[in-house]
Amino acid sequence: MGQITLSGVAKRFGEAQVIPPLDLEIQDGEFVVFVGPSGCGKSTLLRLIAGLEDTTGGRIIIDGRDATGVSPAQRGLAMVFQSYALYPHMSVRSNIAFPLRMAGLPKAEQDRKVEAAAKVLNLTSYLDRRPGQLSGGQRQRVAIGRAIVREPSAFLFDEPLSNLDAALRVGMRMEISELHEKLRTTMIYVTHDQVEAMTMADKIVVLNAGRIEQVGSPLDLYRSPRNIFVAGFIGSPK
Ligand code: ADP
Ligand code: MG
Repeated sequence: MGQITLSGVAKRFGEAQVIPPLDLEIQDGEFVVFVGPSGCGKSTLLRLIAGLEDTTGGRIIIDGRDATGVSPAQRGLAMVFQSYALYPHMSVRSNIAFPLRMAGLPKAEQDRKVEAAAKVLNLTSYLDRRPGQLSGGQRQRVAIGRAIVREPSAFLFDEPLSNLDAALRVGMRMEISELHEKLRTTMIYVTHDQVEAMTMADKIVVLNAGRIEQVGSPLDLYRSPRNIFVAGFIGSPK
């Protein structure tokens, strides 16, 4: 579970070819970071994988099944939105349980899954609070909890820490890495921040104007950047 293959995947918005056809292989359990400058197509690529945008070419295979054209809910992936996507009038418990309630899961099973997620995220003592009574980092963890309860085959993050201040960002980065260690579920993480990419990724995908410039481990990219763009972006001594 959590293996994703993009084969000739492309996206046009009207006349604009935002993603020219590209291929990418994501292995089960990998922490993959899409990094590149603002406007290069990171969010679009993630939304294509999530099914929130339709491709204009190519195929998306998830766990061996053709997911092209399949609705987001049927893909078995969870998109983690920024913490402001929480419902302010609901408790932490209800916020985390939300997708389970929508799926009509029995109450006892909802509770069990919410408590398990809260434990992984160190939120157990906050379950009866409202989002407004939490810190920014705790709110972000609630947003992640809402993804965990769905037991997705992959988590998709789109710049989840961009709302947080610098100190908190460093802490949350470590928490997300730790979560990956615990769950070993595939994670695709979008950021324009090179430091985030270099410290969190198993595999970095460097994007520039919708094209993949290079794919490799942080060390690969640092030591052997394929071109000036990658070298400049990663900050290699070249
Ligand atoms: P990033 O996340 O890397 O900053 P995006 O994927 O948001 O970049 O955007 C890539 C390009 O696609 C940008 O030029 C953006 O203006 C364009 N774009 C994104 N979404 C749409 C849309 N719904 N309609 C038209 N153009 C879009
Ligand atoms: Mg974006």
